[in-house]
Amino acid sequence: MWKRLLLIRGAELFAFGMLVAIPVFVNNSYALGLLTLLAIYGILLIGLDVSVGYLGQVNLGHAAFLGLGAYASGLCVTLLGFGMPAALGVSLLVGLVIGALLALPALRLEGPQFALATLSFSALTVTTLNEWESLTGGAQGLQLDRPALLGVHLGAAGFYWLCMILLALVWMLMRNLLSSHWGRAFEALRDSPIATDAMGVGTYRFKVAAFAIGSALGSFAGGLYAFNFQYLQPHSFVYELMVILLLGVVLGGRKSLWGAVVGAALIVLLPNLLSNRMLFQVFSALGLLLAVVAGVRGMMNKSTRPFQAIAPIVAMGSLVVGGMLVANTEDWRKAIFALMLFSVVVGLPEGLMGFITRFLSQLFSVAPPPLPAPAALDEVLAARPMQDKPLLELRNLKRYFGGVKAVDDVSMAVHSGHIHGLIGPNGSGKSTAVNVISGLYAPTGGQVLLHGKALPEGSLYQVARVGIARTFQNLQLFGELSALDNVMVALKGVYRCPLPLLLLGFARREEKRAQAQSLALLELVGLAQQARSKAKDLTYGAQRFLEIARALACKPDLLILDEPAAGLAQPDVAQLIAIIKRIHQRGITIILIEHHMDVVSELCDRVTVLDGGKVIAEGSAEEVKRHPLVIQAYLGVEHTE
Ligand code: ADP
Ligand code: MG
Repeated sequence: MWKRLLLIRGAELFAFGMLVAIPVFVNNSYALGLLTLLAIYGILLIGLDVSVGYLGQVNLGHAAFLGLGAYASGLCVTLLGFGMPAALGVSLLVGLVIGALLALPALRLEGPQFALATLSFSALTVTTLNEWESLTGGAQGLQLDRPALLGVHLGAAGFYWLCMILLALVWMLMRNLLSSHWGRAFEALRDSPIATDAMGVGTYRFKVAAFAIGSALGSFAGGLYAFNFQYLQPHSFVYELMVILLLGVVLGGRKSLWGAVVGAALIVLLPNLLSNRMLFQVFSALGLLLAVVAGVRGMMNKSTRPFQAIAPIVAMGSLVVGGMLVANTEDWRKAIFALMLFSVVVGLPEGLMGFITRFLSQLFSVAPPPLPAPAALDEVLAARPMQDKPLLELRNLKRYFGGVKAVDDVSMAVHSGHIHGLIGPNGSGKSTAVNVISGLYAPTGGQVLLHGKALPEGSLYQVARVGIARTFQNLQLFGELSALDNVMVALKGVYRCPLPLLLLGFARREEKRAQAQSLALLELVGLAQQARSKAKDLTYGAQRFLEIARALACKPDLLILDEPAAGLAQPDVAQLIAIIKRIHQRGITIILIEHHMDVVSELCDRVTVLDGGKVIAEGSAEEVKRHPLVIQAYLGVEHTE
């Protein structure tokens, strides 16, 4: 534990100390300029990493936010005579507000459409800055003087230290944010927005928040950029910068503060690399070496296919050869960026920092921080009192898809504390019924009541908030997150620390509690030993159980399991039955969609049978088994199971 903490914090402090000390020993204004830019780009890329790394979106608007922030600070100083802190505050706010406004419509879009929306925003911003000459000076540029900071005029070294301190501050605040339930929510909605909503986390809110925060850091960096150069031109913030910024994040390593700063260092050095032949050759040779090492390692671990190893080597090799043949590398810069970006995306998808961290943690065999002991189950899932009255009622529920009456006038009541079976042949409307109840689909007609009150319609998020949790027939896990994090994303009733305190690092205690509670749920489904495994690396059976643990983390009154036994081998089915019994003992009401009649007979207090979207029978398992319509519609075919 201490070894790890010492290594990580030690490395941070050492790097920071070194960087801060440089101006004391080196009196070179050019080097100082580069270092200042490193700090500014560090902040900028930490912001970009929120949308590119955590949200997993291709964000082409970040350079525009840098420009907006730069002009905001510049104009505050030239027109309004603001001091530095106020101007920087305005820059931050501009990014936050415009970022949120852009996110509201744009984040409803997926993948390429989102990229296009941010690209249009970027074009619009640069054009406006260019054409609104009366305000910005247009292509002539905007000249400003760096104002005093609290009465002190900062020289080059002073301003550098200010930028470094701000970078350290941003680093600490963002580390606290991204390692909290906020950061987990950002990542979860990248892997499965549907599941994030169904766990009551609110995909959209978190997406907008993440984008706004990232953009705010971008425009804050813009403010510093303005005070650094003291001269602004709209053309500095165009397409080319955007590609370079993306290159920085991807090459440095996504989802990593170190990655952002390493990426920033690269961006800062790029122009020098391109203008100096020797440097370029050394650099491209290093790149080639890295591509070879990464390729060979990947092939040895069998994590890389041959072409994935060879393509970056060829790309880097052509940089080396090209560097010898071409007279002026600057003319070729776009091609060079393209080759580099290609090599990184193919050959080093985790970026430099991902590569180095993995290497270092093997070298020093650093164990991940220990987990707390699991909480008592009573703390996590307080036993609910048994009461024999309906918890959930469907009244004449209908859901049509065009002409298909998937759910056609279904009425049923699920009693509190029961395990209620929902069975029927394939296509009889079971999943559709669940999708309507849980808010994935709005009903075509009819009503769903929980505790006698109408449920919110057509919103997974709101239904989850009133106490219904579900699993999915087709698994919807957060594949890139660990089993523990999957559960922690959904956990209710623990995260109370207000955002400002959380940013300052005061959420550690509740984080431990969340871990302990989530471990208790993993234990309940028999996965405590796999807490650290990525969800996508678990066996199929374990993934099914993990979805159940995650649904329980919502601390629901009603749990809906959509064919949890589908595809399970026999020992897993036995374990599933044991898990469902344990959940039942906590007094949680369960709707169980199931094919295997023996499982249904063993578990269910009551069974509703659907066929063609209609209820054809209801009663105890024994009763429905003997029902002639059921035998005809369903058991006649499936009885052999
Ligand atoms: P079950 O879960 O009982 O196997 P479903 O509820 O998945 O059945 O499907 C019931 C019927 O509704 C099927 O005919 C299916 O094709 C149709 N259906 C389900 N979802 C959709 C959808 N999103 N769009 C169109 N048709 C759908
Ligand atoms: Mg189904």
